[in-house]
Amino acid sequence: MKAYKELGKEELLALREDLNKQYEEAKAKGLKLDMSRGKPSSAQLDMEKDFLGMVISDADVTTETGVDCRNYGLLDGIPEAKKLLADMLGVSPDNVIVFGNSSLSVMYDTVARSMVLGVLGNTPWCKLDKVKFLCPVPGYDRHFAITEQFGIEMINIPMSENGPDMDLVEKYVEEDPAVKGIWCVPKYSNPQGYTYSNETVKRFAALRPAAEDFRIFWDNAYAIHDLYEDKSDDLLEILSECEKAGNPDMVYEFCSTSKVTFPGAGIAGIVASAANIAQIKAVMTIQTIGYDKLNQLRHVKYFKNIEGMRAHMMKHAQIIRPKFEAIENVLSEELGELKIGSWTKPVGGYFISFDAMEGCAKEIVQKCKEAGVVLTGAGATFPYKKDPQDSNIRIAPTYPSEEELRVATDLFVLCVKLVSVEKLLK
Ligand code: PLP
Repeated sequence: MKAYKELGKEELLALREDLNKQYEEAKAKGLKLDMSRGKPSSAQLDMEKDFLGMVISDADVTTETGVDCRNYGLLDGIPEAKKLLADMLGVSPDNVIVFGNSSLSVMYDTVARSMVLGVLGNTPWCKLDKVKFLCPVPGYDRHFAITEQFGIEMINIPMSENGPDMDLVEKYVEEDPAVKGIWCVPKYSNPQGYTYSNETVKRFAALRPAAEDFRIFWDNAYAIHDLYEDKSDDLLEILSECEKAGNPDMVYEFCSTSKVTFPGAGIAGIVASAANIAQIKAVMTIQTIGYDKLNQLRHVKYFKNIEGMRAHMMKHAQIIRPKFEAIENVLSEELGELKIGSWTKPVGGYFISFDAMEGCAKEIVQKCKEAGVVLTGAGATFPYKKDPQDSNIRIAPTYPSEEELRVATDLFVLCVKLVSVEKLLK
């Protein structure tokens, strides 16, 4: 098949008629499928039966330091859980605080704390005329929702396979004191599945911010979420890089076990320098007497150590990998030569990012919806839900079954073709 752009008008008209017929037939099937959010499938959740059924007996309720997990205490988490999350990210347990069930709420609190109370003695952001965040795009919609809610101005920074455009990041961070933060998903990014290169991490660590209270919001949500045993991306550990570069306090790193055990019922953590940890703990002590230590203990007893956790992630990978590969196969077979879209081929994480021809994403998502397949809203991967090119679509392969995914991807491909032909005929 020739690239669509090389087709003449008559050929495009005939193609449109044929594609429209196929679309009406697909619509008549009354599909009801969801490829919108990065959620584990029920097969993955079923895999956690042993975890779900894990009862902590009376004999087991104390930490290795002798603290009873049924009672108040240990504001920053049990030592065993700190070690587990520290090993997950390659840092020291001293730099970890274990929170409750969601890293997103830790990120929200971190922005809220900076707004209301300020960062390490600096003026609270809410007292400043202007606060700005850099947002690598496409990115995670819920990050952008947090900064939007607090009235923080968001600035798009283009992403490449190596991470955000660091020339631009350096320019904004080093020249504008109103720039207080940047959202990063450094490994298997949401939605592209890109991992920041060593050079990118080093350039981050070496930033010389105009604002003393500038912070990198390093959301390492997919730190151990590899799809393959024999090929995975490596991410340089940022906290020690920042320390080496003379910027020990510049980063807040976030993580959770949401996609290791259960989303909404895992444990979350923050990683930061001693000074940042001290400030966060001082605020936390007003906010809570402590998080759910029994759940922390359950995680530790279930995995035992980081090796146990990694082995467990390979079981997830066995379920997820064929879904990523099925999508890749359909996309390259059906669209490979048509030059109406490009997409990423990640070796980990939860998403594939698809770029349609400019001005087509909204219409593709709408057409899929009308035929019963829900995708993440077009534009959602950009601040203010505004994709300037109207081209990016996030595909979340994990939730549907393999069979459902094939049907949904076929429909997606059909809609991409139809909308592209219509665009070329305009
Ligand atoms: N960060 C990223 C990049 C995500 O993709 C997600 C969920 O999709 C989250 C955070 C949410 O994490 P949690 O469940 O720990 O709040």
